[in-house]
Amino acid sequence: MLYSKLFGKTVKAYPKDEIAVNAKLLLKAGFIDKLMAGSYTLLPLGRLVERKIEEIVRQEMNATGAQEVLMPLLHPKTIWNETGRWESAKEVMYQFAKDDKEYALSFTHEEIVMDLIRKHIAGRKDLPVKIYHFSTKFRDEPRAKSGLLRGREFIMKDLYSAHENKEDMMKYYAVVTEAYMKTFARLNLEVRKVEASGGVFTKEHTREFQVLAEGGEDTIYFCDQCDFAQNKEIFTGKEKDTCPKCQKGKIISAKAIEVGNIFPLGTYYAEKMNVLFADVQGNRKPVWLASYGIGITRLIATIAEVFHDDRGLIWPEAVAPFPIHLVGLDLKDETINSKVHNVYKVLEENNIDVLFDDRTEASAGEKFSDVDLIGIPYRLVVSKRTGEQIEFKKRNEKTTTLLDLSSIISKIKA
Ligand code: ATP
Ligand code: MG
Repeated sequence: MLYSKLFGKTVKAYPKDEIAVNAKLLLKAGFIDKLMAGSYTLLPLGRLVERKIEEIVRQEMNATGAQEVLMPLLHPKTIWNETGRWESAKEVMYQFAKDDKEYALSFTHEEIVMDLIRKHIAGRKDLPVKIYHFSTKFRDEPRAKSGLLRGREFIMKDLYSAHENKEDMMKYYAVVTEAYMKTFARLNLEVRKVEASGGVFTKEHTREFQVLAEGGEDTIYFCDQCDFAQNKEIFTGKEKDTCPKCQKGKIISAKAIEVGNIFPLGTYYAEKMNVLFADVQGNRKPVWLASYGIGITRLIATIAEVFHDDRGLIWPEAVAPFPIHLVGLDLKDETINSKVHNVYKVLEENNIDVLFDDRTEASAGEKFSDVDLIGIPYRLVVSKRTGEQIEFKKRNEKTTTLLDLSSIISKIKA
């Protein structure tokens, strides 16, 4: 991608009301644009990061045996009335009337999934069902001040599983827990499994996946020695207490970002919506439902909150929009100009995606500060000073080295 042609470049001025680190960095670096509070466009750079996160999540969901679908975002009032959530979840939902009918924009999909399941399963042999999708959720969030951490519309991966009994549900629940830990590790995020209450979803305790970060809206209490961790809302102790689980460690509290949440919902939804299957004796029984969310756009923000310095973003390689940011300097010199264009061409021919700063008017200083702001893992420079070689630098290191193109290619491919 030629930087001169990229839609959505780095900007000096950004909306004054932004206070969140992720929003400031992503706006300045040209990854997002703000429409209104809690509502953002993913510009090409932002969308590239989103697609990479999505693909990692997809691979790990598929590995659990789940299948991808795509469910509607516009829901009739009647389906929400079946569980009573048209009333009980009113505050969070965008509800509206059109002609003589009422609708809501999707804030979650349990009811839609249950409707699908009751139409598509005949008996026990069709269970378990494991389906997921990536789609937009709309929520009337009163505190939409945290950039992509809390949108009024945002992209979620939501997985739903339906089972013939509790044991089977809990077995898969454990499989998904592991898949989540693997997913977050691939995103370079250190995640804690935290117990919390289920809000409008369930009375049972749920499991949240929390990333320690200053910019987080949640507070968690956890043990400095074992895996004990609880959300502030349910933890009854205080800091420095002895850990109630291992009786050895001390409790610490920290700000954290919830990047995922899983709920063992049970038979409540199936009972309300008549989602039944015939067991071995031929008795009709409700299915056991669990749901599992991951905040895809919140993950972009979380990575920005965790990986940056005072000069800009520092993307982990797995999700960087491009692995390489190629900078051409002294481009009015014909020889240098054709040399750097050739480097670009060879990298592309080797299937290495490159953001190539091909601007002739921008100064070296401007180009370097844009590189640091955008935060692509590897910087390559071709200039009068680099001779037959290319300058190579990692975003998170200070040292530069001169290398030839073929060793750069093998380095990147490794
Ligand atoms: P929170 O407590 O932060 O409001 P939640 O418990 O409402 O989250 P879920 O309904 O479980 O969240 O949604 C699954 C995941 O979707 C969350 O773990 C989070 O990563 C993400 N998410 C939830 N609300 C938002 C939002 N307003 N903007 C961006 N991502 C969100
Ligand atoms: Mg919420």
